[in-house]
Amino acid sequence: MKSLLKVHHLKKTYHTKQGETPAIKDITFDLKPGEFIAIVGPSGCGKSTILSILCDLLEKSNGTIEKNKNITFGYMLQQDSLFPWRTILDNCLLGLEITNQLTNENKDYVLSLLKTYGLKDFIHSYPANLSGGMRQRVALIRTLATKPDILLLDEPFSALDYQSRLAVSDDVYQIIKKEKKSAIMVTHDLAEAISMADRIIVLTERPCQIKNIHTIQFENRSTPIENRKCKEFSKYYDQIWKEIDFHV
Ligand code: ADP
Ligand code: MG
Repeated sequence: MKSLLKVHHLKKTYHTKQGETPAIKDITFDLKPGEFIAIVGPSGCGKSTILSILCDLLEKSNGTIEKNKNITFGYMLQQDSLFPWRTILDNCLLGLEITNQLTNENKDYVLSLLKTYGLKDFIHSYPANLSGGMRQRVALIRTLATKPDILLLDEPFSALDYQSRLAVSDDVYQIIKKEKKSAIMVTHDLAEAISMADRIIVLTERPCQIKNIHTIQFENRSTPIENRKCKEFSKYYDQIWKEIDFHV
């Protein structure tokens, strides 16, 4: 299958007044249409830097990024970063406003997403009135509003407690699949990565390189929560855990 995105020998060094910080040493991977890739690696190894470069928020130092023509990205961050003074609907319309795409058709699309994904009764509420999990769902819908081809998710559930984290990752996964998006998710939660991803890229410490890429296959692939119960799950967990250079 043709790749949506091909990253070839990507390299990044930050230059600051204090000196140079090499963040990415050498990263090569591709993303296929409809694929869900998780990137795991120790804290500070360069994961967020990779996502920022992919969506042009940051310049690379070297390497090539081949994208299919007109590919667009949606970036969802760890904190839901909703504006407290805007209603849920107005928060979701923000990206469309900024990019001058606030047509009736696009607004209807956002309304339909909010309805489909259980937020119909909260359209005119403010973020403070929603639970953390609901706010993450709103953040995802805001990201989907501009109809991006590729979603970049940077530790999207880490602000949530364990129970909500499981529920929201299940929700978000199903929304991504239903809307037929491709995704790259950064996480430091290995179980989350295994339960959601088709492939997992394991990074070394900073400056990061690829230690290994695992294809995750479940005989009965289902939702993330169900996948955790599959017999293959612990096999992947044990295998990949050994590869990650965690520091305490
Ligand atoms: P991760 O997301 O894996 O935790 P980051 O990509 O945020 O790691 O950062 C990788 C390294 O680059 C870290 O050591 C961090 O301090 C450094 N870094 C990140 N952003 C900047 C910046 N704007 N200027 C200088 N150094 C940075
Ligand atoms: Mg990060």
